[in-house]
Amino acid sequence: MSKSNRGKALWKLPSRGRGTCPVCRATRIKLLYTRTLENGAKAKVCKRCRVSA
Ligand SMILES: [Zn+2]
Repeated sequence: MSKSNRGKALWKLPSRGRGTCPVCRATRIKLLYTRTLENGAKAKVCKRCRVSA
């Protein structure tokens, strides 16, 4: 598998992989990680929110 969070692959994503992180509200950050939230919904979060709550 290729690196899906690096380089050219990002440009295929909506907004080229950038957006507002639903956890920390950082805007225009790269949302590279899928995390399951407390309510069971899956969301793309930034690297800062990958591990921490
Ligand atoms: Zn975040």
